[in-house]
Amino acid sequence: MGLLDGLEKLGIKGVDTSNMFEEPEKEEPVKKAPPKVAEKPVFNEEDYVFVKKLECPVCDSPIQSLTVKTGKARLIKMDKDLRQIYDGFEPMKYEPVVCQCCGYSVMNRYFAPLTPSQKKAVLENIGNSFNGKKGETKTTISYPEALENITLCLASAIFKRAKASEKAYICLKGGWLCRSYRESLMASGEDCEIECEELLKKEKEFLNNAYDGFVQARQSEGYPMAGMDEKTIDYLLAVMALERGELEVASKLIAGILQSPSCSPRIKDKAREIKEEIVAKIRSQKS
Ligand SMILES: [Zn+2]
Repeated sequence: MGLLDGLEKLGIKGVDTSNMFEEPEKEEPVKKAPPKVAEKPVFNEEDYVFVKKLECPVCDSPIQSLTVKTGKARLIKMDKDLRQIYDGFEPMKYEPVVCQCCGYSVMNRYFAPLTPSQKKAVLENIGNSFNGKKGETKTTISYPEALENITLCLASAIFKRAKASEKAYICLKGGWLCRSYRESLMASGEDCEIECEELLKKEKEFLNNAYDGFVQARQSEGYPMAGMDEKTIDYLLAVMALERGELEVASKLIAGILQSPSCSPRIKDKAREIKEEIVAKIRSQKS
């Protein structure tokens, strides 16, 4: 007789009672899901841009231009030379508008109709030989592509005989884009020494041209210039002059800003900081 006799006729067989009180093997406790923390939204550059439909002012082809959504990117700081730095995103990559058909390229701030002679010059010098980007559809723009597009903007500006300020603006943005690209490479932790050196060289070349262009534009054009008022341009030139070691030019520009009754307090504060740097540099040269 056993403890469970009778069960067999109910169809239940094979119940072993010999180890009935043995502790069952411990089951792995069911892991509780960690409490949900508010997840950081995954960064997706595509969310920051949209396709803007334009018409090429040179060949009339439709242009699908990736454009930055306003108010989406978060400004975190600003360089001494007014380059704006955004949280995880570089809007400058999206400033050039490029016609995939004829290659005409322009910074979106300067997108406007062209005169017949400008169109002719662009078509003859770029349009006829351009074969770079036909049929491309992009959802984002990489740094190398953006640099290529900025270079195309500069070529178009030269051929259409744009004002000095437009060419200077392209060079300014080109220099800043090189800096931004270099910083992103350095932040990636990858071996990028040679690339960074080249980008630094290119940045300086762009900024030297921007300086020359704005100096020329300052003598011949009115304000606002490239979206900046007179004292902002003077401030920018002062920072660039300081970088180039032209201390006398830099001090004159800064003095002009500090004496101006109409200059914004924001630029005046920045000018005071540059003045201190100039004074320190002059002192260290004398000692
Ligand atoms: Zn075109």
